[in-house]
Formats: sequence, C-alpha cells, structure tokens
Amino acid sequence: MPQAVKDIPVLNVEKIREDFPVLHQQVNGHPLVYLDNGASSQMPVQVAERLDHYHRYEHANVHRGIHTLSQKATDAYEAARPKVAAFINAAEEHEIIYTTGTTDSINLVANSFGLTHFSEGDEVILSEMEHHANIVPWQMVAEKTGAVIKVIPVTDSGELDLEAYKKLLTPRTKMVAVVHVSNALGTVNPVKEITDLAHEAGSVVLIDGAQAVPHQKVDVQEIGADFYAFSAHKMFGPTGFGILYGRKSLLDGMPPYRGGGDMIDKVTFEETTYNVPPFRFEAGTPPIAASIGLSEAIDYIGRVGMDQIEKYEAKLVEYAVEKLRKIDGLRFIGEAEERASVISFVFDHIHASDIGTILDKKGIAVRTGHHCAQPILRRFGVPATTRASFAFYNREDDVDRLVEGIEYAKSFFE
Ligand code: PLP
Repeated sequence: MPQAVKDIPVLNVEKIREDFPVLHQQVNGHPLVYLDNGASSQMPVQVAERLDHYHRYEHANVHRGIHTLSQKATDAYEAARPKVAAFINAAEEHEIIYTTGTTDSINLVANSFGLTHFSEGDEVILSEMEHHANIVPWQMVAEKTGAVIKVIPVTDSGELDLEAYKKLLTPRTKMVAVVHVSNALGTVNPVKEITDLAHEAGSVVLIDGAQAVPHQKVDVQEIGADFYAFSAHKMFGPTGFGILYGRKSLLDGMPPYRGGGDMIDKVTFEETTYNVPPFRFEAGTPPIAASIGLSEAIDYIGRVGMDQIEKYEAKLVEYAVEKLRKIDGLRFIGEAEERASVISFVFDHIHASDIGTILDKKGIAVRTGHHCAQPILRRFGVPATTRASFAFYNREDDVDRLVEGIEYAKSFFE
C-alpha cells in the first residue's frame, strides 16, 4: 500500500511539488509550467499509487459479489461516500451520488427532477456566466416540458447582477442553477444569498461547484443548496468520476435517470421497482477505481489543509493579477471583487490561440478559447480568452514565467 504523505503543517509548495512528478518535466525544451488546472488538475503520486494498487491487487466488481475480493472492493468503493459527505458537510452519506462528473450530475438533476417537476411556463433561472454543462441540459429539458429559461445578467466587472436576479424570481421559478466559481472569469458567486433568495421564492437550487471544491471549503448545509455538483479530475483525482450532492427529501421523490444494475429493487417484465437513493441513480458497473482515487485525493487535500490552500492561492492570484496588469495591452475579462484561481485575459490585436501556442513553445500550459462558456464571452464581446488557472502546487515563479512568455509572444506582433 502507498504510504500516506506526512502531515504538512503549513503549505510548503516545494515539498508538495515532490508529490507531483508530472510537474518535473521538460516541455518543448523548457521546464513545464502547468496553468491549466481549471480544465483538469494534476494527480499526486499518492492517488496514482492508490489507483495502481487497486488495479493490481483489489479489483473486483462491487455490490453483487459474495466473495471476499468483491466485498473488499465494495468497502473501498463505498468509503468515498462518507468521505465526500464530510468534505462538503452533507448531512448524510446517502445524499452523495456517484456520477461521471459535473456534466453528468447536472444532466441527472435536469432529467430526473426537471422532467417530473417542470411544466409549460415554469421557469429555470441560469446565469450568463454558466459553463455549457449548466445550460444545455436545462435547454433540453425545457424543450420537452415547455419550461422557460431566464438568465441573470453579469456586470462589467464580471459579477452577477443580484438586483436583476431578484426581479427574475417569480412563483413560477422551479429551479435556479448557478455556478459557484466561474471557469471563464474566476468570479466567486454569493451562492448562499442566491440560494436564500431562491428558497424564499419557493424554488429549488443547484450549484455547479466544479471550480470551487479544489480551492475553498464548501459547506452545502451552510449554503443551503439542494443540489451541488463537482468533478474528481479537477480536484487532484481521476477522470470519469464526479459527485452529485442532493438533499435527501428531494432525492427520495426523484425517479431514476438511467436503468440497469444496482438501481433496481425488483424486476419483472410487468413492472420494475427501484432502489433507494443514492443507488437508484447509479446504474451499471460504476467507476470503482475512480471512487477510490477520489477518496485518496480528499485525504491528500485534507493533509495539505483547505485553509492553507485558500490562503496560499489567494496570495498567488493577487501576485499574478498585479504582474499581469503591468503588461501593456493586456485586458482582463472578469475583475470581480471575490475571485478564485482563474485569470482570463485578451489582447486587442493578438488572438488568444496565438498566445497559447507561443506559450506552449516555452513549456507554459494555459487554455485558450471559449472555455465552454460561449454566452459569457459573447457578453464581453470576445470570441476567446487566454486563461491561466492555478492550483496549490503553482508558485510565483510560474507567474514570472507566464509574464515572460506573454511578453515574448507579444514581441511577434509588434
Ligand atoms: N462546470 C464548470 C464550471 C466547469 O469548469 C466544468 C469543466 O470545465 C464543468 C462544469 C464540466 O465538468 P466535467 O467536464 O468534468 O463534467
């Protein structure tokens, strides 16, 4: 079994980086600077070794096996549930549904909750800064049910216009689905206030937490969210796995989303009855290894300490903003008061993909494009941005390399 990392009392970035072998490589002849954490974060060796150990010595299918190996795999697979529940302070572990990621989690709610609760003229409120994963599933369900999508506008600084939001809420509002931290702007939204207002209007709330959980303490009970969705691969865990938190009283009344496997109670050709949540929503053989990997990632985050991560990243992002602000011609897209580890920017006469390509030649990985959030880029009148997104293993040195790289890229267009 892999050894657990030693407790890390304060965030020691050099020590942490030892756990991420991927960061210690040359890319195009330069040491890698990885600033694409918003798309997918890197995995510490403890998680990789745990996955390897599972595949070598522990693999069997879960739940249905009477034999010892299957029972051991089931125990390891199920161990993520209480761990995730504690990580986001859910009231109980059966409120934690395993999915394949944020997208799948939102599709589950849209189809299971939406299809049964929305009817002609009901309203779903989204915001202008949503990822497509929190737009398209609602549009698909709205098309089937006759529900109407309404959109909270975003201010010039990249914040939600809360006054406009209050006016959008009506007795017909059935769902408010809003992102916690914007992947395109870095804005941290006031999700508790948004949730309280929605509840006063009688609406249910889903929060897309994909970009929040790796960077800040999330407490679903404090926020009051009815549903909260996130992905393992953005929080130092494996791909193909994610979580939907759902309030038990709502889950109990929701029909299954997919059929087959563990989601049943009894099957006959005349009728099938369904399992209780969360199993009702988990059809087929699940990503067993990925669940075990997420457990290990949560342990890792716990040892580093979320308080330390938050403090460290806040300083790092502040440093990056100050440095980038000095670059002639650079314009930030999104300058919210409350922001997390994402910085988006443009140049008027240089396309983002040119910047990204030249940065890559210097070993610097950033993301360019619309970040699966086309409406918010349209709102700011740009087709694409360059996005640097940080994690707790990034350093000020990475920011300095980014700034140097951008100056170098600019020199081609002067
Ligand atoms: N929501 C936000 C805010 C995101 O940033 C992402 C991914 O970038 C998603 C949803 C979709 O996540 P996944 O592709 O892991 O389902």
